[in-house]
Amino acid sequence: MAQEDVFKKIVSHCKEYGFVFPSSEIYDGLAAVYDYGQMGVELKNNIKKYWWDSMVRLHENIVGLDSSIFMHPTIWKASGHVDAFNDPLIDNKDSKKRYRADVLVEDQIAKYEDKIEKEIAKAAKKFGDTFDEAKYRETNPRVIEHVAKHDALVERYKKAMNSNDLNELREIIVDEEIVCPISGTRNWTDVRQFNLMFSTEMGSTADGAMKIYLRPETAQGIFVNYLNVQKTSRMKIPFGIAQIGKAFRNEIVARQFIFRMREFEQMEMQFFVRPGTEMEWFKKWKETRMKWHQNLGFGADHYRFHDHEKLAHYANAATDIEYKMPFGFKEVEGIHSRTDFDLSQHEKFSGKSIKYFDPELNASYTPYDIETSIGVDRMFLSILFASYKEETLENGESRVMLKIPAALAPVKLAVLPLIKKDGLPEKAQEIMNTMRFHFNCQYDEKDSIGKRYRRQDAIGTPYCVTIDHQTLEDNAVTLRNRDTMEQERINIDNLLSIIEDKVSMTSLLKNLI
Ligand code: ATP
Repeated sequence: MAQEDVFKKIVSHCKEYGFVFPSSEIYDGLAAVYDYGQMGVELKNNIKKYWWDSMVRLHENIVGLDSSIFMHPTIWKASGHVDAFNDPLIDNKDSKKRYRADVLVEDQIAKYEDKIEKEIAKAAKKFGDTFDEAKYRETNPRVIEHVAKHDALVERYKKAMNSNDLNELREIIVDEEIVCPISGTRNWTDVRQFNLMFSTEMGSTADGAMKIYLRPETAQGIFVNYLNVQKTSRMKIPFGIAQIGKAFRNEIVARQFIFRMREFEQMEMQFFVRPGTEMEWFKKWKETRMKWHQNLGFGADHYRFHDHEKLAHYANAATDIEYKMPFGFKEVEGIHSRTDFDLSQHEKFSGKSIKYFDPELNASYTPYDIETSIGVDRMFLSILFASYKEETLENGESRVMLKIPAALAPVKLAVLPLIKKDGLPEKAQEIMNTMRFHFNCQYDEKDSIGKRYRRQDAIGTPYCVTIDHQTLEDNAVTLRNRDTMEQERINIDNLLSIIEDKVSMTSLLKNLI
């Protein structure tokens, strides 16, 4: 299936089965804002639990926090967001479409990478076992040419971004002959900076009202509570604070479903360390976070690290964990070594000391910080991409299935009476009433059993039990496995012990330690 089709299919699947709806749909929607339906909210909650438990439960030195969305406006001055939380935008004069100038250039860099990879793959196929990739890279004229163009562009781009040179950014777009995908022309405006923060007013009178911002990241709520948490939890460095919450960005380009939203949710953890040890911890958190992703079993080749060409004003190292979406490898999580920038800035702007006294060193210092920051919505999207399957069955019928890891699946067990009479619904309700205390179950008595299985496959339910007339006599049910479609007859008394372990979060978490 073409990758573009996969994307379209998933968007409509999400709507049809209650995962994601466009926001305010009956009013024709609101750009880049989405609502999570009855299935989506369950999957989202399970993703958050997987992250939260992996951070807060599995690490004795990480605690949680839930700070407000509204914060004192000076916080955003101190953090640099008022002055520098900008994206460079450019318009195409013919199509009137707006683009992020940096994204246009990064896409061009990716095109060169793609060309190189394709040459290598072609040669590897041609030469088979005797293929020497390193040698081919060194000697093949086409690869050499692509690599040279790629490296020169990366260098030029890095320089332009680091010096905030908007004219040079435009020149790069012109020199690389980048065209607007809609109009196909190179008729570009100048590049301008655009601040991504939403603002509103707090207070009732016009005179006394204060301009405040909707937070564009949850991180600052952690920094300004650093002292409160450290003192009341008596945490010793190194330690971390984790938080899940909404963030808001007035994104310039917002046309990739829940990949880029104006209101989204982040799961962020700030890990405070001794100055000088931050690179060691950066490396450790890179590994830990990659393991968390790969633990879902979608295949290691679906993920890669992408080190930043341009470091943010606060960072001395940064990488992204990218997932292979149908529209290319894209960032799902950022891991940043933020130095002591944020705590020092808040110390400066608030006039309060945020130093840590290290009893082992007998010295005070401002801790350095490693951040892991992942978007719940992008994670959600990557899980859908990875788990969406269309299968043709032996009998010629087809099924659409979401092969979501059982622990994350919105519904764990569907309870299905074969028919709607003869006491079968009552028996099924008895099972519901035992199982619902352990995990999310769904009762369904409508349509043929085949149709009901298909509906459960489409929402990713790992197990179904069918109650038939025989059940009333021998207390046994048919347990059906989503992935293998195998059915086995089991006693109701064993049902819980057979599935509980497989669908529990513990099954995922225990591989992480
Ligand atoms: P991008 O370069 O794609 O705009 P970013 O580097 O600005 O992302 P961060 O500031 O590092 O993103 O935010 C951390 C995480 O929050 C991202 O990895 C992503 O998963 C998520 N995120 C950021 N912006 C959005 C958005 N507009 N919609 C959905 N998720 C987002």
